[in-house]
Amino acid sequence: MILHADLDAFYAAVAQRDDPRLRGIPLVVSGRSRRAVVLTASYEARPFGVRSAMPLFMALERCPQLTVVPPDFEKYREASRAVFAILRDEARVVERLSLDEAFCDLGECDVDAAVGVAKRVKQSVLSATRLTISIGVATSKTVAKIACDDGKPDGLVVVPPQTEAAYLADKPVSRLWGVGPKTDARLRAAGIETIGQLALLEDERLFALFGRWGREMRDLARGVDRRRVSDDESVRSISSEETFEHDVTDMSSLAAAVRTQSAELSERLRGRGLVAKTVGVKVKLADFSVRGRQTSLAQPTDDHRIIGAAAAFCLQRASVDGSRVRLIGTKVAALTPAGAKQLGLFSRAGSPGTIQPASHPGAEREGRPAVLSNNLTPGKG
Ligand SMILES: [Mg+2]
Repeated sequence: MILHADLDAFYAAVAQRDDPRLRGIPLVVSGRSRRAVVLTASYEARPFGVRSAMPLFMALERCPQLTVVPPDFEKYREASRAVFAILRDEARVVERLSLDEAFCDLGECDVDAAVGVAKRVKQSVLSATRLTISIGVATSKTVAKIACDDGKPDGLVVVPPQTEAAYLADKPVSRLWGVGPKTDARLRAAGIETIGQLALLEDERLFALFGRWGREMRDLARGVDRRRVSDDESVRSISSEETFEHDVTDMSSLAAAVRTQSAELSERLRGRGLVAKTVGVKVKLADFSVRGRQTSLAQPTDDHRIIGAAAAFCLQRASVDGSRVRLIGTKVAALTPAGAKQLGLFSRAGSPGTIQPASHPGAEREGRPAVLSNNLTPGKG
């Protein structure tokens, strides 16, 4: 069982907790500059259409009586520390997504036990911080996250095993991990509005809509999400860089540097028992401008030839030919344990290691759910 835990309107709730005059009124936590954006909106501000990430001037247009409170990160860190201490006491593995949001892996346990943990966490967080936290309980990350958002504020929503697909079926496709505005528009144009409709699509249409992500999307729509809760924050990416003594202008030297770096990264991946799904190249030019390109592999690897070829491709696309290059770096990211590579999201149970086509017009996706990626679609905060 997996919990997704997320404090409610965190920054706004801290402000309201510490100043009774701010309770019950529409407020946002935000900077004060011309270009400031809303960091968090209180629940009282949301009916006015005020949302986080909205420019402050727009929030003030929508709600002229809005109170604007500056952020206080020291308080947020203090509350965050208390919350994570509680989560780590209760869970086997805690994956931190931000100051106020985490996945917790409870291991093999039944629903009642998981709900017991969730209730204790809510109670302990409230007594330790005087803040409310919402929790979703499910068998996978995707479903736990959606359940948590559904319960906000101060929610506890449980999706028992085997009921995942039914739970998701009526929800709009935009609630799924990785479906951003572009994909959402494409799906609607194709007449697919609910997660349930997506769950029923046949392979051919999936491929037309999503390219190689099709089956993965359908699995998510069915509530099947094999990504594990991971507490390994130490290695999100590994990179190797070189600053040249004199600016370099010829492509062959740059290509050679990238090849050497790829070989080194391959060694380091093997040393740590990891495989990488993303390869990137960064160049810094003589004028200190930086260009970077990255690409996703069809399958995670630690093979220096594949990493080297992907890096060479990125270098080519960075189109630095003729420029004076000061620094070049190669990076591998979206790292997973080497043993788990046969259990990637692309392979279906029973057909491990299915290799999907490497590119397809439909393959550009927003917030693609790589195995270790944390780019969740924005929740209700
Ligand atoms: Mg939150």
